[in-house]
Amino acid sequence: MTKRVLMSVSDKTGIAEFAKALQNLGWEIISTGGTKQTLDQENIRTIAIDEVTGFPEMMDGRVKTLHPMIHGALLGRRDLETHMTQMKVHGIEPIDLVVVNLYPFKDTLLKGGTPDEMIEKIDIGGPSMLRSAAKNHAAVTVVVDPDDYAQVVTELSENGETTLAFRQELAAKVFRHTASYDALIADYLGKQNHITDPESTTLTYDLNQRLRYGENPQQAAVFYQTALPTSFSIAQAKQLNGKSLSFNNIRDADAAIKIARDFLDQPTVVALKHMNPCGIGQAKTITRAWDYAFEADPVSIFGGIVVLNREVDAATAKKMHEIFLEIIIAPSYSDEALDILTTKKKNLRILQLDFSQAQASKKEMEYTGVIGGLLVQNQDIIEENPMEWSVPTKTQPTKTQKQALEFAWKACKFVKSNGILVANQNQTLGVGPGQTNRVGSVKIALSEAFKKSSVLTENAVLASDAFFPFADNIDEIAKAGVKAIIQPGGSVRDDEVIKACDQYGIAMIFTGVRHFRH
Ligand code: 5GP
Repeated sequence: MTKRVLMSVSDKTGIAEFAKALQNLGWEIISTGGTKQTLDQENIRTIAIDEVTGFPEMMDGRVKTLHPMIHGALLGRRDLETHMTQMKVHGIEPIDLVVVNLYPFKDTLLKGGTPDEMIEKIDIGGPSMLRSAAKNHAAVTVVVDPDDYAQVVTELSENGETTLAFRQELAAKVFRHTASYDALIADYLGKQNHITDPESTTLTYDLNQRLRYGENPQQAAVFYQTALPTSFSIAQAKQLNGKSLSFNNIRDADAAIKIARDFLDQPTVVALKHMNPCGIGQAKTITRAWDYAFEADPVSIFGGIVVLNREVDAATAKKMHEIFLEIIIAPSYSDEALDILTTKKKNLRILQLDFSQAQASKKEMEYTGVIGGLLVQNQDIIEENPMEWSVPTKTQPTKTQKQALEFAWKACKFVKSNGILVANQNQTLGVGPGQTNRVGSVKIALSEAFKKSSVLTENAVLASDAFFPFADNIDEIAKAGVKAIIQPGGSVRDDEVIKACDQYGIAMIFTGVRHFRH
């Protein structure tokens, strides 16, 4: 019996050559409207789909191939007499090869398709045929990717049929493809309604790049980006200079841009090491902000990642050029600044990142992997109003202290828990990250801060990402001479903590919101 192929493709790449090769092998070609036109132009003999179904294509193409004449021909088991008899009774002739690729949903979306256009780009008949054929891969070959046309031709030419192993591989590819196609539609529709519930997020990712290795050289790794890209993400940053990003670079850079995103109202420089900020400086100019961030910890910034939220000018570039940095990220660079930064530094990774979508990116979900699972949550982006904070101590913070406390509070959110941060109104002074008891983090932050000149530490205040469980923390803070604290409050021992502050004449703010970062 003559073998039959059904061709229905949106992406017509390579279809004419493939059809010609099949025709030369004696195959009969059935095709849908647009595909038929393409093949007609190449003088390839085809049978129109409506000749097979006995129905015209209708409803603007919504219904073309959804018919038992097609699906029976794809799904009928060749090894079961009952199926073959039913096919005969209903005049259904088997289809042995299906070549389908789907309506370009993603391309249309990226080109800014309107909601109506997007609905029309949801392919129904295509995935149905792919799935029917893939289910019956024991007998049917199914091709969704033009890159596979050549091997199909080779196998058919050599053996008159494809191998079962190849058909199975092609079927798996189909299910991967239709799964991600549907997931993207779900993502799109979910976002249309501004759903921010983690459960409504479907996970669709595209390979951004294979990485040389993971966290350590003995770990293999790849970088996936969301199928619907967000413009404010490290995946979208444009690299202007330097080696490609490593696994650790990508994580650190992501952590650093998230911090910079929270300080957009003033020129700010964020320096980061191993997922923790080591210096944050804000000022009226970006150069001054750099000075503050650098002074904050001139040791840790070595080999660090720096994000600047304003254009990098020559003056700032000169200062940055003096030390070894791993990555610099900024919205733009003056030509002169770029010349300075790249001089004799071909490895320095310099990235340009559009900050205009920074705010919008806060709606994205945040993912953490565990063995055998994935945790999905909203980002920690709660808007806090300092007017709603309370001061439970007898001493009130001064105006300068208040400014420093607000800055310290914003910065402390990005320190790994237990997170403590000492700052003045312009810069961080000491960071105490990730200790297993809070007083340990307090000691580290204070000792880092008070290594510095008294000019910087004069107005030093301290922030804690979660409540103080014991008053021993306050004893340490008082010993160092810090006079103002900000923390969420909410401990069963709050009274003891407040009493200790009152004894030392320390002013303390309760924010009512905690910011763990594990
Ligand atoms: P053509 O350009 O040949 O007219 O259409 C090809 C496209 O139509 C393919 O992307 C295929 O997946 C899709 N398609 C095939 N059958 C149907 C159907 O019955 N309904 C819909 N909505 N799309 C179909």
